[in-house]
Amino acid sequence: MSYNPYDNVLATVEKAAKLLGYTPEDYEAVKFPERELHVSVPVRMDDGSVRVFQGYRIQHSTVRGPAKGGVRYHPGVNKDEVRALAAWMTFKCAVVDIPYGGGKGGVAVDPASLSLGELQRLTRRFTSMIAPIIGPDRDIPAPDVGTNAEVMGWMMDTYSMLNGHAIPAAVTGKPIPLGGSQGRGEATGRGVMLCTKYICEKLDRPLAGAAVAVQGMGNVGSVSARLLHEQGARVVAVSDVSGGIYKAAGLAIPAVCQYLSKRGNLLSGYEEAGMTRIGNEELLEADVTVLIPAALENQINAENAGRIRAQVIVEGANGPTTVEADEILERNGTVLVPDILANAGGVVVSYFEWVQNLQALEWEEAEVNAKLEKAMQKAFDSVYGIAAEKQTTLRMGAYLLALKRVVEALRFRGIWP
Ligand code: NAD
Repeated sequence: MSYNPYDNVLATVEKAAKLLGYTPEDYEAVKFPERELHVSVPVRMDDGSVRVFQGYRIQHSTVRGPAKGGVRYHPGVNKDEVRALAAWMTFKCAVVDIPYGGGKGGVAVDPASLSLGELQRLTRRFTSMIAPIIGPDRDIPAPDVGTNAEVMGWMMDTYSMLNGHAIPAAVTGKPIPLGGSQGRGEATGRGVMLCTKYICEKLDRPLAGAAVAVQGMGNVGSVSARLLHEQGARVVAVSDVSGGIYKAAGLAIPAVCQYLSKRGNLLSGYEEAGMTRIGNEELLEADVTVLIPAALENQINAENAGRIRAQVIVEGANGPTTVEADEILERNGTVLVPDILANAGGVVVSYFEWVQNLQALEWEEAEVNAKLEKAMQKAFDSVYGIAAEKQTTLRMGAYLLALKRVVEALRFRGIWP
């Protein structure tokens, strides 16, 4: 059976709506993306040929505010994936209670196969093609898998040029000189680290010395690993698309991160005394206290969920666990901090960036981090409290909180006309 992440979203929303006692009319509108744009993006390649890439920008909801969400460059990008990612943004922004709806974009492309010039031309053409539906009051893109601050800079510049003046608030996750926020680059990983700390406190398990495995050493995974290492956790396994490494005594994470930044973000070739090479399945099934999936969707599924030995899973990635896997993990007593809470640090600081841009202000990094910590602690406590009260999982607790907020806003706005 082929996996459709949007089915995952719908199944979870249906379950939450039932627990909240909603009638279908209460949340019918939430089940469908509001607006979908599919674009075919022609790019002049360095050799003079023309390639056409498929791109999407999908706004799942603008009920609580402008749509907000990243742009993904990955060969696997398709409409159902972008739909699911857009919907997760709606619920994520509601969990952390920031005034945004949810959106997401993507282009089916392997960015590593493009030259810098090709990547820039693709980004600018894609931005110009989605420009009619984005903007600081409509829908604000940010980085996701395969995109970074540099790409956001090109998006901001393209949108600004099309409008004839600088519009920094149109995009977040920008380079600092273009109005990017201090702390944004680290924000998602920092939120993951904070959630790991909070859940360990609740479970009365010391984070210091706890064995941690991280799948995916990109923006989210590498910062999560580094900050957890700084908190005294023993990061025993990390992996990326090139494979994984394991060391029971704990890997030298600062050295791993330094290697990644110098070697095109790939782990293959990294060496450290006492480490062994492992595959991604071995990493996911490693005997650790905390597992942080921080790569892509559908990594923990019906096939491997029964073999997961981690006691705690903190979802750095969006949608790494399927609905079927969730049920198996719950039965096995694995505690899972869900994506819409665990990786919300990125969108929280994106929101801070947008607020600073709109007011032409610049906040210090310490101020950004303190505000982020406050937002994450508040969201975590709310989710934990609801889950305990309803005797359900943290994922369901997060959806109960989020769906309630979205449906409440929908009721106040009504259905026009
Ligand atoms: P990234 O492109 O920086 O990194 C992705 C990492 O995953 C890379 O290390 C890559 O090699 C690895 N990877 C890819 N396929 C893999 C596989 N099959 N097995 C193991 N590793 C694999 O992306 P990112 O921005 O770190 O995003 C990672 C996840 O976090 C995504 O699900 C994304 O939607 C989510 N997320 C990102 C942000 C953000 O601010 N960047 C915020 C919230 C959630």
